[in-house]
Amino acid sequence: MNFRSVVLVTVVLYAGACGGSGGGSSPVAPTTPAPSTPATPTIWTVNGTITAWLKGGSVTNANVSIGNTASAWTGSNGAFTVQIDQPGTYPVTIEAPGFHTSNSEIEIKTQSAFTNLFRKVLPADTNYFDLNFYDHVFRTNGTTGTKRWTTTPAVEIWTKKMKCLVALGNLCLQYEVTATPTPIHFESLTRAVVNIDFPQLTGNVISGVNITTKSHPTGTILNFASELTSHTIYVAYMTRGSTSFGGASYAGTASTGGNVAGQITGSEIHLNSYFQADKVGTYRHELAHALGWNHPSVAAGSLTEYDSMPRRSVMERPGIISSWDKSHGAILYTRPAGSASPDTDPTGSSVQ
Ligand SMILES: [Zn+2]
Repeated sequence: MNFRSVVLVTVVLYAGACGGSGGGSSPVAPTTPAPSTPATPTIWTVNGTITAWLKGGSVTNANVSIGNTASAWTGSNGAFTVQIDQPGTYPVTIEAPGFHTSNSEIEIKTQSAFTNLFRKVLPADTNYFDLNFYDHVFRTNGTTGTKRWTTTPAVEIWTKKMKCLVALGNLCLQYEVTATPTPIHFESLTRAVVNIDFPQLTGNVISGVNITTKSHPTGTILNFASELTSHTIYVAYMTRGSTSFGGASYAGTASTGGNVAGQITGSEIHLNSYFQADKVGTYRHELAHALGWNHPSVAAGSLTEYDSMPRRSVMERPGIISSWDKSHGAILYTRPAGSASPDTDPTGSSVQ
């Protein structure tokens, strides 16, 4: 029996009940129709398109597997359709010739007969994507997942020079607020890097950053990296004070648990008088650290620490942002925080 015949039968039966009532009898209360609830699908369809990071364009002949049993190949327009017989959360694996294998997840909701799945895959062609570079800069030579901001951070520039009291190498661990204002170029270079370079380093994901200044009370004692969960990048200008502190330093933290693995939650950057107005590269370098950039994986302090990048990078001297920083930074910021080898999204992620 189809739906239309059910309706007709119902109407006929109802009319018959009314027609039989005689004058003077109590009216029969009309039957309240059952509330309409969407029918639960019996088959769930996933429609999607696979495209290429950086190269652009759709990916033909990609195999899209959802769970262990359902899979399909993309056509010439990169489109595919897969049918699933149970709702739920499934692993998604995409394999395509000339691309890194992509691993992620999809949630198919019980009431959704159709679910969209759009994914981008990373070219294996190193003219577009160099996994070695990506590993060095973002994944500690492939040993960890990526770290990045998942919301736009604020930037706070401290306007008084800080006198270092306790140093450990190029880290100043404790410092005192002096009465001396920082030089003009300290604030102007920091603002320029945040306004102009942050978008370039993050595929325009981090832009329009709110920059404020702060003047602490003179004599305040502060500890390095004491506010690393404040979703703020603090930028301080240090003097040597009573220590031999003489470098620039950076500290940042990324959560490894909680809601988002690999999420940067705060950072603090120290610059000093060595970095004059002509050292904008150092400002770029230190602020790039705050966005998720690392040094190449060689021994810290060795001569090659900054200068052995697989490709040109802001992480080598003199701190010029390269085309590789731009393209790979865009990948970093459009893939989930905590992404691992080479195109594996963290558990629970279904970013498109
Ligand atoms: Zn550095």
